[in-house]
Amino acid sequence: MDFSCHKELLIATQNKGKLREISYSLSDLPLKLRTSAEYPNSPEVEETGKTFAENAVLKARQLSQYTGLLTLADDSGLEVEALGGEPGIFSARYGGRNKSDHERVLLLLKNLARKHPGNRRARFVCAIALAAPKSGAFKIFHGVCAGNIAIEPRGEHGFGYDPVFIPEGSALTFGQLPESRKRQISHRSKAVAALRDFLSIYYPVSA
Ligand code: IMP
Repeated sequence: MDFSCHKELLIATQNKGKLREISYSLSDLPLKLRTSAEYPNSPEVEETGKTFAENAVLKARQLSQYTGLLTLADDSGLEVEALGGEPGIFSARYGGRNKSDHERVLLLLKNLARKHPGNRRARFVCAIALAAPKSGAFKIFHGVCAGNIAIEPRGEHGFGYDPVFIPEGSALTFGQLPESRKRQISHRSKAVAALRDFLSIYYPVSA
């Protein structure tokens, strides 16, 4: 019963970019997708974990307890090799909580130029946790997308660090690639694909 026999699935994120990417891949499952916007008074979850997976579990479990729904939460971020894996789990707060996505991107480029301009290797990492409301049981799904940091921001698509992330095998940034392409190769799509495989055992998609 932990993960089976539910009618609804809450996608616990305030980030519209993440919500769009996740809900697209799950929309044909026989589960009604609910969003955080429908629960405006839900508690703010402190991300005190030391890993993406720990933070994803914290968010999924707390929101699942609060709403009584089967709940998924994503924790994700960018790891830049020459910066020792920064900004990592602090990607959303890099340089302080009040910065815009664009300011964070500029800070990243500045810090990278200071350290190791020659090594621009980076990867996006995503952990998605699925939590069951009553028992608190959870499962974790992972996804990684390797690439390089561009010299300067390019493109208007996506969110966060997309304008400076060039996925392996591409000359364009995620900001320039169409969303449909990002959906095929991103860290989040890989984690969602694993989650989808798991959910479809309990909730088969009708042909
Ligand atoms: P979270 O909400 O704590 O998981 O923060 C994730 C942060 O990592 C976002 O605010 C972005 O800055 C960054 N991030 C995660 N996934 C992506 C992505 O697909 N594109 C661009 N930035 C991302």
